Amino acid sequence: STFAEIDLGEAVNQNIRRCKYVKPTPVQRYAIPISVAGRDLMACAQTGSGKTAAFCFPIISGIMKSGQQIQRPPRGARTVYPLALILSPTRELSMQIHEEARKFSYQTGVRVVVAYGGAPINQQLRELERGVDILVATPGRLVDLLERARVSLQAIRYLTLDEADRMLDMGFEPQIRKIVEQMDMPPPGERQTMLFSATFPKEIQRMASDFLYNYIFLAV
Ligand code: AMP
Repeated sequence: STFAEIDLGEAVNQNIRRCKYVKPTPVQRYAIPISVAGRDLMACAQTGSGKTAAFCFPIISGIMKSGQQIQRPPRGARTVYPLALILSPTRELSMQIHEEARKFSYQTGVRVVVAYGGAPINQQLRELERGVDILVATPGRLVDLLERARVSLQAIRYLTLDEADRMLDMGFEPQIRKIVEQMDMPPPGERQTMLFSATFPKEIQRMASDFLYNYIFLAV
């Protein structure tokens, strides 16, 4: 099987070729069509499995197909309304996801911004002010941005929780719940949710039943 067989659109397919990805990894082969079909997904996948592309391709492709990309805030507006949110446990992982998502969205008009803790917020605020379609964030820093009313989650159409088990191990469950509660389009409405975790303990099962709607379970 190849990426071209999945309907991601020409711009994304071109970026896949630029990245020299020839053959989808197993998680990509199964997760991408499920996500393109609009279904919620619970995926058990390890680091190195190619999961970043598995959740980025459908999000970028979906935003492009909707024609809603480049959510540039009006001049002087301080609150931005991203269409997609990718939550990740650490600064390092957030930076990696941001870097990959930027490559995948090259020349698509889809703008990706990253916000993580342990770094000054001002540079991140300036990046957000220029507009954001996909926000990659760590939970603590995102709660800070929500409290400052610099980010609103009311337009979120795609939610991805990456390395969810690690986020729980780090004690982020209260922040994650607070974040998800602020989304305007709960399932089975307009929001599509993907939960990625290396393990599938009770706590992750509970999150899956709380955050996902009629989801497909995938273990690779
Ligand atoms: P990840 O699990 O998302 O951290 O990806 C692990 C590594 O595999 C990253 O360096 C990706 O750029 C690379 N990668 C992901 N998908 C593919 C693919 N289909 N073909 C070749 N390399 C890939």
